[in-house]
Amino acid sequence: MTDCLFCKIAAKQIPSGIVYEDDDMLCFKDIHPAAPVHLLLIPKTHFDSLAHAQPQHQELLGKMMLRVPQIAQQAGLSHGFKTQINTGKGGGQEVFHLHIHILGNPQ
Ligand code: 5GP
Ligand code: ZN
Repeated sequence: MTDCLFCKIAAKQIPSGIVYEDDDMLCFKDIHPAAPVHLLLIPKTHFDSLAHAQPQHQELLGKMMLRVPQIAQQAGLSHGFKTQINTGKGGGQEVFHLHIHILGNPQ
């Protein structure tokens, strides 16, 4: 049993406002939104951060990046959005399961 919060969210052991899911990734609403739309996109497989990504994660990371604008569009961010990946304590990372923040104001 993992102690990772986002692994528990991916396993649906902790409820979250899921907005997108496929075999590889899950996107859900940030519990403390820093913008009117604030989503987190995570891989279902665990790795701690971008600094822990391995060559075998290359395809997964590519899929996630290509999915971001589609999720943003669906969330109403058709005029643009911000993405953020915090890496390590010095980078402001608090949850050590890689995640991409997607932020913006729907029009
Ligand atoms: P980090 O600082 O690690 O880049 O971002 C972690 C994010 O996870 C924060 O924006 C925080 O609000 C969010 N978060 C922390 N715990 C939970 C939770 O239990 N559920 C959801 N949906 N978001 C969470
Ligand atoms: Zn995890």
